[in-house]
Amino acid sequence: MRLALNYCLSSTILGKSSRMRWRLPSPIAVFAASDVHMVDNDWSISQYPLIPGHEIVGKVTITGSAVLGLNSGDRVGVGWQANSCGHCEWCLQGEENLCADSQGTCVHRHGGYADRVRVNARFVVPIPEGLESERVAPLLCGGITVYTPIRSHGVNPASRVGIVGIGGLGHMAVQFAHAFGAEVTAFSTSPAKEADARSLGADNFVNTRETKTLKNLAGHFDFILSTIEADQDWSAYVAALRPQGKLCFVGVPPGVLGLPAFPLVSGQKVVTGSPHGSPLMIREMLRVAERHKVQAITERFAMSKANDAMNKVKKNKVRYRAVLAT
Ligand code: ZN
Repeated sequence: MRLALNYCLSSTILGKSSRMRWRLPSPIAVFAASDVHMVDNDWSISQYPLIPGHEIVGKVTITGSAVLGLNSGDRVGVGWQANSCGHCEWCLQGEENLCADSQGTCVHRHGGYADRVRVNARFVVPIPEGLESERVAPLLCGGITVYTPIRSHGVNPASRVGIVGIGGLGHMAVQFAHAFGAEVTAFSTSPAKEADARSLGADNFVNTRETKTLKNLAGHFDFILSTIEADQDWSAYVAALRPQGKLCFVGVPPGVLGLPAFPLVSGQKVVTGSPHGSPLMIREMLRVAERHKVQAITERFAMSKANDAMNKVKKNKVRYRAVLAT
């Protein structure tokens, strides 16, 4: 395993036609759990030497001749996706994140820690003025990954929502579910996170090591979003759903779910999943984040300390998103 990091601090994007290039005078790139997966080739898609980084904020330096609506000097962000086919049914209906030819920002190309980044302008989103670069960068992949299912599955002020895992994804999910007006319950193995969860908008906190508490919530939730990458007793979470309730995975547990079908049939319950979001949804999310003051809690590392950041992410010690900055 090799990790190539480029410490040049004037990162960029550049291009021709619909592509663009940008330079990042004050570059912000996040070291997320997905970057660790890329470094370790956990998904068998990594190509070495690898330059990670897929939650990045910077400024445009050059745009291709076909780029409209973005200009040199604009503060912009890029998330997981850097390109797609542009002509399949999913691309045409603004759901490029479902395109079979989706290209990741740090998959077979230099990601956000490089000194230059070049992407299709369709996947570059302007950052609203009221959002701080360091606090908004984690929203560009982690944030949209939780925002999309909360939005798409109709969470509203009458909803009872459970967020499983209060980490990089979960701490943003609590804020968005709260912004949608839902009653929010945070599930965590760490009681030390209760104060944070409540300050982010959680109405209730459940220590998942106390299995009895989850049993007492049978039939309670309209929507449960799991952000964790660990196996659990998922049948207990299905039992915690109301009829027509949905259990949605954005974190990927290593094992199989192993769920009994009867509770799904009798209660018309749904088990589903969701990847990152489309550029259109990212733009909407940023407007919501600005209006409702949703932002990531970040821990800043110098770019030269990228390996320290990675090790801390691996040990699950970062509260809640590591950012690399000058
Ligand atoms: Zn497509």
